[in-house]
Amino acid sequence: MGLGSLFKRNKKEKTEDAVEESHIDIAFEECEGCEKCVVACPNNVLIMDDDKSSVSNSFGCKRCKVCMAICPNDCITVN
Ligand code: SF4
Ligand code: SF4
Repeated sequence: MGLGSLFKRNKKEKTEDAVEESHIDIAFEECEGCEKCVVACPNNVLIMDDDKSSVSNSFGCKRCKVCMAICPNDCITVN
């Protein structure tokens, strides 16, 4: 294994760790991209990314769960 592939593997593991640590879970398959959660979040935690809702700043989340309540497809879980 070359150094390049070792670096890529470490980068991938770090990305997976970051996803696991987030307390906001979005079911991307169910998201229809209506943007309601992005507009409703009072702390600008969510953004649209490739027509799907995505977490941009999980540290700004106050766990108000407005995004959960407004999503028509129950895509979002805030723990
Ligand atoms: S729980 Fe509240 S602060 Fe956190 S992402 Fe949802 S709407 Fe924003
Ligand atoms: S409210 Fe639900 S369906 Fe609409 S963009 Fe947000 S996660 Fe997707």
